[in-house]
Amino acid sequence: MVSRTTADYESLAYAGCKAVNEPAFWAGFDRSSGDGFYDYFRQITEYEPKRAAKFCIDHYCWLCINPKEAEDVGLAREVISIIPDFIQCDNVLGIGEIGLNKNSKNELLILEEHIQLAVDHDQMILVHTPHLEDKLKGTKLIVDALNNHSKIDPSKVIIDHVEEHTAKIVLSNGYWAGMTLYPESKVTPNRAIDMLEIFGNENVWLNSACDWGISDPLSVPKAALEMRRRGYDDEYIDDIVYKNPVKFMSQSDKFKLR
Ligand SMILES: [Zn+2]
Repeated sequence: MVSRTTADYESLAYAGCKAVNEPAFWAGFDRSSGDGFYDYFRQITEYEPKRAAKFCIDHYCWLCINPKEAEDVGLAREVISIIPDFIQCDNVLGIGEIGLNKNSKNELLILEEHIQLAVDHDQMILVHTPHLEDKLKGTKLIVDALNNHSKIDPSKVIIDHVEEHTAKIVLSNGYWAGMTLYPESKVTPNRAIDMLEIFGNENVWLNSACDWGISDPLSVPKAALEMRRRGYDDEYIDDIVYKNPVKFMSQSDKFKLR
């Protein structure tokens, strides 16, 4: 969790967190070269697992150039060429978070090249969908790009940041849906629970946004408390906050819970 403090790992440990997933994402600024990504991949495959281990948390990550920086096709291709050097690292679960930010032609091109990279190396995929008014169009473009690839197994792909108007597109095509929780903007814990009541709890996981903006690593345990307030039993809550993510990630041989 390069954008977070060590105290966040400590809070997660107190809340009962066993493992975290860190998607490769934006660094708060656009990196100027492939070397910047090389160092970043070292950080999330070498250093972050050690930082998490101090709190008995297993750290897993995903590799890519995020859609925000993928607009620069030359840089994106350089980064894609580096990724195979890191794919075999013990904590790498797949390629992500790839996807779209502004639904541009270049972003789509690099999305397709990332999908091919995942297929070539038999990797799972974690996808970011654009926020706000571009989300519906972006989600449809992403689902089309995945469906158009003959070798994609939808059960090994999770499409994140789903909302009320995109969850059905994702789930009906056989992909997993991720609901990324934020304390006050985008999907809040209560809104996510409303969505679970509409779309069911199969192939869905909740995750806490841990980015540069206002976000809260404890969003998932807070959502669990909210479910309890609504009268859901322990089994239902455990399925959503624990068993579902374990089921998805266990498709990688590298994912092992202590
Ligand atoms: Zn994202």
